[in-house]
Amino acid sequence: MAGRAEDGARAVVIGSGFGGLAAAVRLGVRGYRVTILERLDQPGGRARVFEQDGFTFDAGPTVITAPFLFEELWELCGRRLEDYVDLRPVDPFYRIRFDDGDVFNYSGDPESMRQEIRRFSPEDEAGYARFLAMSERIFNTGFTRLGHVPFDSVWDMVRIVPDMILLQSHLTVYGLVAKFIKHPKLRQVLSFHPLLVGGNPFATTSIYTLIAYLEREWGVHFPIGGTGALVHGLMDLIDGLGGELRLNADVAEILVVNGKARGVRLQDGEMIPADVVVSNADSAWTYRHLLASGARQRWTDRKLEKSRYSMGLFVWYFGTKRQYPDVAHHSILLGPRYKGLLDDIFGARLATDFSLYLHRPTATDPNLAPEGMDGFYVLSPVPNLESGVNWETKAEPYREAIESYLADTVMPGLHDEIITSRVMTPLQFQDELLAFRGAAFSFEPILRQSAWFRPHNRSEDVEGLYLVGAGTHPGAGVPGVLSSARVLDSVVPDPEPR
Ligand SMILES: Cc1cc2nc3c(=O)[nH]c(=O)nc-3n(C[C@H](O)[C@H](O)[C@H](O)COP(=O)(O)OP(=O)(O)OC[C@H]3O[C@@H](n4cnc5c(N)ncnc54)[C@H](O)[C@@H]3O)c2cc1C
Repeated sequence: MAGRAEDGARAVVIGSGFGGLAAAVRLGVRGYRVTILERLDQPGGRARVFEQDGFTFDAGPTVITAPFLFEELWELCGRRLEDYVDLRPVDPFYRIRFDDGDVFNYSGDPESMRQEIRRFSPEDEAGYARFLAMSERIFNTGFTRLGHVPFDSVWDMVRIVPDMILLQSHLTVYGLVAKFIKHPKLRQVLSFHPLLVGGNPFATTSIYTLIAYLEREWGVHFPIGGTGALVHGLMDLIDGLGGELRLNADVAEILVVNGKARGVRLQDGEMIPADVVVSNADSAWTYRHLLASGARQRWTDRKLEKSRYSMGLFVWYFGTKRQYPDVAHHSILLGPRYKGLLDDIFGARLATDFSLYLHRPTATDPNLAPEGMDGFYVLSPVPNLESGVNWETKAEPYREAIESYLADTVMPGLHDEIITSRVMTPLQFQDELLAFRGAAFSFEPILRQSAWFRPHNRSEDVEGLYLVGAGTHPGAGVPGVLSSARVLDSVVPDPEPR
């Protein structure tokens, strides 16, 4: 661990999402004096926490995979994750309910999974085994070998073309699953994962089937205290390294002198000089709004306008006066349509039907709600703001439709049980988190927007500027953004002693 001089080289990190926090840890360990600037009044970004009426609601990520990426950050600081955060395995990973009431329990246990597959379609058992083997191969390349390396030059991309051909990366996730599995319901069960990172299973490159292997091998976890416990744990590490977090610090501009990032200017006019600037703000927003257009050659306004952005999310957080013990920690409630609904969402049309992810954190940690009550959030993938949906007027009727659907399916009597409630629409993603087009996961994860084609971790446009988070390589999701911070180790130079 490098020593940290009080007057050593200074790094500014814009934003305190998981990517920004992980970057701050890594730079701090390497000896940078780190300041995180966060425009909101708490850290975490999409993983911030809403405390309301005695309930604790994690705003965003709840399916915690790849715990080894968190463990590594603690190890870098000479500590152990388990001494700070109590991560509990969740079983089943997901309870998937089809519109006709059929249920598939998706777990990490090979025998239970085989049984579930057999229950739906005995003829798909062998195909499932082959699909898993393929998912492992894709993981070994897509995640282990390439997930944390920079894609700086087009040659980095050219070099992986043979692997991509071998692994059939030109196929979509659904396309690859369909090669192995025949039953339509099982095809849904094994292809929904890209939605967790903002992708359409019918358009996202099959590289994302690696998630199936990642989950099976390392499990799905949830921290006691909620995902916020991981945010606080990371803040503790940063504090221990002498790093600083400034809240309500809204960066207006990245200062560039002779093509080099030299610091930032806040909305209130304060200038903060830096040797290295890392942006964990949305990468499209970073280029479009934080850098003058004269400083950009690759990420021009035109290119940003033409890029494709992920779906938006409608999230309803609510508490109930009674508990719903039959509802699993993670439920996926599939609506009557699969491809048709996805076509609508990614075609910028708000449909009247939906597929939902229902989260009941109190299934694992009852202390997240007052005694005898349950906390939930339910998330519906919706089009991003390109759709022109007026969420000011649409939010409440949309929420009511979801409430009725839940009451009719897995939460009987829900109408009379709600004791606290709040919603988040793509409008808040844009206005609070400064998400370009209100997209929940930044650039859509399609092949022509992946790896070298995504905004690079080492900015192509400005020297001394680095990007971490969902909108850079490798992409969205907690494992993705933690890996993006790992890339910094190979592209940010060591701090120069002063
Ligand atoms: C509802 C929801 C559920 C999800 N569920 C899961 C899940 O279960 N598992 C999973 O792995 N992933 C999940 N994801 C995805 C995952 O949460 C995100 O991809 C990841 O957390 C994004 O991290 P990030 O590093 O990109 O930063 P973000 O969380 O996007 O944070 C960026 C930060 O930058 C700040 N910022 C922006 N502009 C400025 C500025 N100009 N000045 C100062 N600060 C600024 C923002 O306020 C924000 O705090 C979910 C996402 C959402 C929205």
